[in-house]
Amino acid sequence: MPIRETFWNIPHWAEIGQYVLGFLTIAVFLYGVFRRIRRWRQGQPEIRTDHLGQRLVNVFTQAILQLKTARDPYPGIMHLSIFWGIIALFIGTALATIDWDVTHLFFNFQFLKGSVYVVYELILDILGLFLVLGLALAIYRRYVRKPARLQNLPDKVLKSDDLYVLVILAIIAITGYLVEGLRIAVVQPDWAPWSPIGNAIAYIFTSWGNPTNQVLHTTIWITHIVVSFGALCSIPFTKLFHIVSAPTNIFFSSLKPAGTLAPLRDDTTMGVKEWKQFSWKQILDFEACTRCGRCQDVCPAYASGGILSPRNMMIKLDMHLWERKNGRKLLGDVITPAELWACTTCRACVQVCPTFIDHLSSFIDMRRYLVNEGEVDTQLQDALANLGRYGNSFGQSDRMRAKWTQPIQPKIKDVRREQAEYLWFVGDYASYSASLTEITETTASVFQKIGLDFGILYESERNAGNDARRVGEEGLFEMLVEKNSSAFAKSQFQTIITTDPHSYNTLKNEYPIEGQRPVLHYSELLDNLISSGKIKFSKKLGYKVTFHDPCYLGRYNGVYDAPRRVITATGCELVEMPRCRENSFCCGAGGGRIWMEEGEVKERPSESRINEATHLDGVQIFIVACPKDITMYRDAVKTTQNEDNIVVKDLIELVNEAL
Ligand code: SF4
Ligand code: SF4
Repeated sequence: MPIRETFWNIPHWAEIGQYVLGFLTIAVFLYGVFRRIRRWRQGQPEIRTDHLGQRLVNVFTQAILQLKTARDPYPGIMHLSIFWGIIALFIGTALATIDWDVTHLFFNFQFLKGSVYVVYELILDILGLFLVLGLALAIYRRYVRKPARLQNLPDKVLKSDDLYVLVILAIIAITGYLVEGLRIAVVQPDWAPWSPIGNAIAYIFTSWGNPTNQVLHTTIWITHIVVSFGALCSIPFTKLFHIVSAPTNIFFSSLKPAGTLAPLRDDTTMGVKEWKQFSWKQILDFEACTRCGRCQDVCPAYASGGILSPRNMMIKLDMHLWERKNGRKLLGDVITPAELWACTTCRACVQVCPTFIDHLSSFIDMRRYLVNEGEVDTQLQDALANLGRYGNSFGQSDRMRAKWTQPIQPKIKDVRREQAEYLWFVGDYASYSASLTEITETTASVFQKIGLDFGILYESERNAGNDARRVGEEGLFEMLVEKNSSAFAKSQFQTIITTDPHSYNTLKNEYPIEGQRPVLHYSELLDNLISSGKIKFSKKLGYKVTFHDPCYLGRYNGVYDAPRRVITATGCELVEMPRCRENSFCCGAGGGRIWMEEGEVKERPSESRINEATHLDGVQIFIVACPKDITMYRDAVKTTQNEDNIVVKDLIELVNEAL
C-alpha cells in the first residue's frame, strides 16, 4: 500500500538536524516578527479593532482570494500562482509533519497512506507547478519586460531583496521536485504516475542507477531543508515579510467612509515631523508595501512629471524606520516638500493598493506639519490667507459671493430668512469665478424650471474647507466648519445640494453629526427627480459624449451611476474613457493643487485626460460634474489644441438643453 516514508534514505543525523534547524527557525522568525511589532508600537495609538467580522471578511477576500490583486491580469495571475503554490506546499508540509510527528509518533498511525496519499501527492505535484510557473512569470516580467513601476530607487539592497525572494523560492520548488523524482527513480513505486512531475523527473535519473541517485537524493534533501528553513527565517527580514504584514494591514484598514480624514492626533505637534509621530497603523502601512508599483501607475502626479511616486514614498518611509542613527530628517532628507505638495489627493493610489495602504493619511499628516511651519509656496499661502480672512480662496468680500444671482428672476430664496426644502451650497468656484457664472446661472435656471424649492446662504456661505483640510490646514478647516455650521443652524432647510464634489465630500463625511442634514450632489438630485418622473425631458439630444468621474464624487463617495443615468436620460450616447469610474484619472486640481504653482510638468493630468477623450470614436462632448473641472478641462482643450475636436460641458448644460 502506498505510504509516506518521511525520512526515506535520510541518515539519522540529518533527521535530528532537521528538528534542531526547525526550532532555530521558529526562534529567529519570532524574534524578527517581535522586532517589527516593537517598531509599530513606537507609533502613536489608534483604535482599529471595531467590526471584527467585516475585518475578517476583508482578509478572506483580499489576502486569501486576493480579489484586488487579480484585477491586474498579468501580475494578478503571477501572484496568485505563487501564492497558491506556496500555500499548497505549506499545507502539504504541515500535513506530513502531523502524519509523522504526531499521529505516527504517538498513535502509531499514518493517515497519509493508500488512496489518501496518492491524491495528496497528485495535488501537491500540480500546485507546486503553479509556484514554478508563477516564478517564471515574475522573473520574465521583472528582468526581461522591466516595467517602469518595478524600477527600484537606486538602492542595491532593494534590488538584491527582489532577486533573493525569486531565487530562494525557485530553489525550494526545484529541489522539492528533484527529491521526489530521485525517490521515485530509486523506489519505483506503483503509484508513481500519481506524481506526474516527480515521475517525469524520475525518468531522467533512472539510468544513473544507484548509489548515485541515493547520494544525490540525500544531498538535495539536505539542501532543500536548509534553504526552506533559511527562507522561513528570513521572512521578517526581507520583502517576504509582506506575507505577514499585508494581511495584518488589510485586517486593520479603515472601515470609515473614504472621505473622512482623521483629525490631528496631537494638537501640540501639529502634524508629523518624525516617524514616531505617525500612528502604529501608518507605520504598518509602510511595512506592508510590496513595492508592486500599482499606485505609481495610476498616480497623476507621477504621470505629469515623476516628482511624486506613492510607491517610492512608501519605500523611503519604510527604509527610514530602520535607518541607523545618521541624522537624516524625515522632512527634507527622506521626504521632500515638493513630493508632498505634488499630491492631488485623488485617492487613486489608495483605491488600487492590494494591501490597503492609506498613503494619504501619512501625506496629509506631514503636510500639516509643513503648513504649521509656514513651508508652503506663495500662491498656496495667499489662498489660505484669503480663506482665513474672507472665507473664500478668491480673496473677495462676502458681499460679492452672491453677485451672480442679480439677474436671476424670480429672486433665489435666502434660507436664512425663508424656509426652503433644499439649501444649495454653491461653493467658491461656482460663486466667484467669472468664467463659471454662466453655468451657475444655468444651474439656478434649471432648478427653477423643474420647480425645485431651494435657497442659498448668500454672504453667510464660506468655503466648505475640504481642500484646506487636504492641504493640512486643520485649524482653518475647523474655523470654516464652525462658520458654515452656524449658518446652517440659523437657516431653514431639509437637504443640502451642491454641484461641487469637494464641498459634497466634506459636508457629507466630515461636518459635525449634530444638526447634520442629508447632502446630495446635484447629479444625485437630478437622477432622483428623473426616476420619480418629476423631471421630464422634451428633447432627445443624441450627442455622443464621455463623462469624467470627479475623484471626490466617485472614488471618495462611490457615486458613479447617478450622473451616467442623467446623461442617458437626456438622450445622449455615453462612451466610456478607458480610465473611468474608480479608475478615473484626476484633473490635477484636488488637494489644494489648484492654488499652487504648477512648476515643470511633462503633461498636465487634465491634458492627458483630454487626449484620452479625443481618442474615443466620434465623441464630441466631454461632460463634467464639478465647477473646478470646467476650468481645468477648458484650459486643457486649449493647451492641447483640441478646440475643434471636443467641447467641455457641465452636466447641467445637457439637462437644460434637453428640458
Ligand atoms: S492621491 Fe493621487 S496624486 Fe496623491 S499620491 Fe495618490 S495617486 Fe498620486
Ligand atoms: S503602496 Fe500598495 S500599490 Fe503601491 S507599491 Fe506598495 S503595495 Fe503596491
